[in-house]
Amino acid sequence: MSKVVKFGGSSLASAEQFKKVGEIICSDPDRRYVVPSAPGKRFKADTKVTDMLYACYELAEADKDFEAGLSAIEERYEEIRTGLGLTVSLEGEFSLIRENFKAKAGRDYAASRGEYLNGILMAAYLDYEFIDAAEVIFFDGEGNFDAEKTNGVLSARLEKHERAVVPGFYGAKPDGSVKTFSRGGSDITGSIVAKAAQADVYENWTDVSGILVADPSIIDNPKGIDIITYRELRELSYMGFNVLHEDAIFPVRQQGIPINIRNTNAPEDNGTWIVGSTCQKTKYVITGIAGKKGFCCINIEKDMMNTEIGFGRKVLQAFEENGISFEHVPSGIDTMTVFVHQDEFMHKEQKVAAGLHRLAKPDSIEIESDLALIAVVGRGMKSTRGTAGRIFSALSHANVNVKMIDQGSSELNIIIGVANEDFDIAIKAIYDIFVLTKL
Ligand code: ASP
Repeated sequence: MSKVVKFGGSSLASAEQFKKVGEIICSDPDRRYVVPSAPGKRFKADTKVTDMLYACYELAEADKDFEAGLSAIEERYEEIRTGLGLTVSLEGEFSLIRENFKAKAGRDYAASRGEYLNGILMAAYLDYEFIDAAEVIFFDGEGNFDAEKTNGVLSARLEKHERAVVPGFYGAKPDGSVKTFSRGGSDITGSIVAKAAQADVYENWTDVSGILVADPSIIDNPKGIDIITYRELRELSYMGFNVLHEDAIFPVRQQGIPINIRNTNAPEDNGTWIVGSTCQKTKYVITGIAGKKGFCCINIEKDMMNTEIGFGRKVLQAFEENGISFEHVPSGIDTMTVFVHQDEFMHKEQKVAAGLHRLAKPDSIEIESDLALIAVVGRGMKSTRGTAGRIFSALSHANVNVKMIDQGSSELNIIIGVANEDFDIAIKAIYDIFVLTKL
C-alpha cells in the first residue's frame, strides 16, 4: 500500500506545525511520498512565504533593494530549521536565490523557492530522499502542463525511492526555466505524484476537517461532507469551493485514486473522501451548496427565434469574437439569455451588443448586472422527487426572487440565478431546508 500526502501552507508554517506533520507521516509507514507547500500563515495577520517571495522579486525586477525582504524570508526558514534541530544549511541556497533574483530569473522561479526550500527541510527532517520538482514535473514551451512526459519521468524516478519528498507548485519548461501552476497549485502536484506512484490514496492535509456542505462565512458551523464524488466536487469547486485546487482532481480521477482531505490539527478526524463513485448515500439529499457573485445576463429577444436555425450559434459567436466565455444559456421560445462574468464582460459590452445586432439581428437586447449564481449539488437528487420544489419554496419563503434556473440532465446539480444582494439569504434558506430541517 502506498499513500501520497500533501501538506498545505498552514500545516508547515512553523516548527510546531512541522512536528505535527512529522508525527502524522511517521504514524503510518504507507505514507511514502510527501508533497509540501511553502510555509503559510502562522496567525491571521501573517504573510505567506509565497507572497513574501512575490513581493521581494518585484523589487528585484525593478532594480530596487530586496535584501530586507529576502532576509525576512530567510528568517522564516531559519525559525523552522532551528526549531526542528536540523543541521542542514540553507545558506548556499539563499546565496543562489539572491544571485538568480539579481539575474531576474523570473516571477515563477521566485515563487517556487517557497516549496523548494520547504522540501529540503522536510526531506532532512524525515530523512527521505529530496526530488526537485523541476526534474520531474514538466510544462511545454507554452507553459501548459505536460502530463505524459511528467508521468513517465516521475514514475521511473519514484520507483527508485521507497520514500521521497517532492515540493509542490512548480516544474520546468523545456528550456529548464521554472514554471508554477496557478495559486494553490501544490494540490495539483500531490495529485500528479499520486498518479505516478500509483498510490492507493492521495491524502491532502489542510487546516479544516474536510469539506463543508456550505461556506462557513455564510453558514454558522456548517456540517461536514463524509464522502463526495469527483464530479460533485468539480461542480462545487467551479462555483467557489476552495478546499482543493479545481485542477487537482484530473490526474487522480483518471486512475480512480481516492482523495482524503484531512486536518493536520485534528488528525483523528476522518475528513472527507473524494471518490469516483460510491453506493454510500449522502446524509442529506444535497451534498453541497456553493456560489459566486458578479455575473451579468444578456437577454436577447427575437420573434420566432425557435425556428431560426443557427440563431444560438450566431449569438454565442458574438461572445466568442470578443473572447468572453459564457456560463449558462437558458432559453425560451423567443428569448435566449447568456450569463457571463461581469468583470470580463463590462468593458466589452457595447462591442458584444454590436456583434449581436450584426450577427443575430435580434428584436431587442437587455442587460442585467449584479447577479449571483448558486449551485446546489448532490448525487442524491437524482433519486429524490421534489428537490427543485423544495429549493424554490424555501427561496420564496425567504423572499428571494429567482432570476434563472438551470438543471442539467445529469440531475447532479441545479443552478439558480439571484441578485447579488440575495446571495447569502438564498444559501441560508437552501441549507436550512435540506440540512437543518432535513426535509
Ligand atoms: N504556495 C503556493 C501558494 O501560496 C502554492 C500552494 O500553497 O499550493 O499559492
